[in-house]
Order: sequence, then C-alpha cells, then structure tokens
Amino acid sequence: MILVVGGAGYIGSHLVKELIKKEDIVVLDNLSTGHREAVDSRAVFVKGDLGNEEDLQMVFRSYPIKAVMHFAANSLVGESVVDPLKYYQNNVAATLTLLKMMMKFKVKNFIFSSTAATYGIPSVEVIDESTATQPINPYGHSKLMVEQILADFSKAYGLNYVVLRYFNAAGAHSSAVIGESHDPETHLIPIVLQQLLGEREKVSVFGSDYDTPDGTCIRDYIHVTDLATAHILALEALLLGKKSAEIYNLGNGLGFSVKEVIETCEKVTGVKANVEIADRRPGDPARLVATSEKIYTQLGWKADRNLEQIIADAWKWHQNKKY
Ligand code: UDP
Repeated sequence: MILVVGGAGYIGSHLVKELIKKEDIVVLDNLSTGHREAVDSRAVFVKGDLGNEEDLQMVFRSYPIKAVMHFAANSLVGESVVDPLKYYQNNVAATLTLLKMMMKFKVKNFIFSSTAATYGIPSVEVIDESTATQPINPYGHSKLMVEQILADFSKAYGLNYVVLRYFNAAGAHSSAVIGESHDPETHLIPIVLQQLLGEREKVSVFGSDYDTPDGTCIRDYIHVTDLATAHILALEALLLGKKSAEIYNLGNGLGFSVKEVIETCEKVTGVKANVEIADRRPGDPARLVATSEKIYTQLGWKADRNLEQIIADAWKWHQNKKY
C-alpha cells in the first residue's frame, strides 16, 4: 500500500484519483485545509496528523506501507513571511516526525512535494535543477530544509527519495469531480474564474511594472493531472530501485504573464473579466519558468496539457464546485 499524506488536499487528491487505478492507498490528512469529499472513495482515509507519532504508528502498524508520498504542507508565501513558526513547525518539524517513523517502521521510499520557491529570484531565464537554490521566504526555506534532510537521511539511513519541485499547479480533474478549493483563495486562475462567475467584483493584477514584455509576472502553469502522472512515474522508479535520490522540476517550459492568463480565461470562457492594476505583491519574482528536461530524459514525463486545457478544466470545476 502507498501512504499519501495530505491526500485530501488539492494536489494530493488528484494524485490519489490516478494512483488508485494501480495501487491500494491509505490517505492520512488532518483536514486543516483539505476536503474529505476530495478523497477517492476507493482509498482508506485516516484523519490524523503527520506530526503526531501515535497517528503515524497506527497507520504503519495497520497497513503494509511500501512508500510514502507527502503532500501535506502550508504553501502560502505571504503567510510564511508573517508566521514563519507555522511553516517551520508544519513543513519541517512535522515532516521530520514522519521521516523518523518511516525509519522506525523500515519504510524506505519517499516522494516529496517541493516547490519553485526553493529557487528564490533566479538569475536565469529557464530554471533547471542545477540552478542555485536561494529561497527568499520561509515557505521556500522550509521546503529546501526538508530536501537537505532527505539527502542526509539517504546517505545515513538508506532512504530512497524523489523530490518534485512544482511550478504553478492549476486546473482540475477532467471529470470536474475534484478541483482546486482554497479558503481564502489566493491563486490567479481560480481568482479570475471566480470573478468571471460573479463571485468577486474584480481581479487585481499585482504589479504591471515588472521587467517582462507586458510588465506583469510570468509563471509556468502546469495541470494538476500532469503533476499526478509525474508522481506515479517517480513512484514506479523508486519501487523498481531505479532511482534513490533525485530532484526534478515539474513545469511545462512555457511562461505566461498574468495578463496572458486573464486573456486566456476570457477566451476559454467567453466572459470578459473586470481587471484593475494593483500594487506588487511582496515576494513575487518577475519570472519563474522551468525546464523539465531532466524528468523527460530520465522518466519520460512531460506536461501534456496546455494553458487552455488547464483553464477549461478549472472552469468546468468552478461552475459546479462540490466543496
Ligand atoms: N496574481 C495576481 N492577482 C491575483 C493573484 C495572483 O496578479 O489575484 C499574480 C501573482 O502576483 C503572481 C501570479 O499571479 O505573479 C501567480 O500567482 P499565484 O498566487 O497563482 O501563484 P504563485 O506564483 O505565487 O505560486
């Protein structure tokens, strides 16, 4: 069985929906930000906390876990700046407890959700895995600290791991049964779609004076189902013993500006957005675009879904949100 920690969250729930076709799954989630309804009914669900040794012991004693996939984290850059304790506690300390219990129960395979925020403000146009990691906020630091812990555990205790550094996860399952639902919502695509549905008065573009062609920030948006596929390939490589300590970027290699995303939302939905230009949001790099050449070469993964498909799936979800 595979233990999916944070399997009720946005990305975790999409992974579960794909992986359940191949593997038995236990989801551990404290539902602090996740949704019970998002967990595929074929998976075992345990409400519990990855920072709680008793919860973990119960899971590792009850189920024959052969690998752990860890999606449970706080992931808002701004919040991490004002409340770093929360980020180091939940993202680093709790992960350390999870790893400790994995070592105790001799579970040696681990897939970790990391982030483009580990790169900080990159000095290159397109980021590869050798680009220097220089986080500029506690969120990015917390993820990079875990990456370091994994490297050290690998050497000392024989932990096998794959780190996946996501760029901008977006979209929803094509069935529209699950999708993105954060409270409060801070991400660009859901905010635009909510505005188009009349759930918000306007979309604020955070800064139009960046050093980019149209002055707005450029990001690399990747469909959440493509992310799920990458996790499954990484898991298979770990279980076959083909990989033991790897880091991969997950992006589609294409950058889109905030203005281009809004225009694409208008095109896909046929609805015009009410947009205002606002101040910059602190901590936003002008451009974050990945190359995923490494995971393509080594595991054969690439993003299959483009920005229009991402937005089309998100739109189906937002028109009929289940949670
Ligand atoms: N953004 C924006 N208005 C919003 C939300 C986001 O202009 O209401 C911008 C944000 O400043 C960034 C890009 O959209 O440049 C993507 O932001 P998001 O929060 O979706 O993802 P992040 O890149 O921060 O992980």
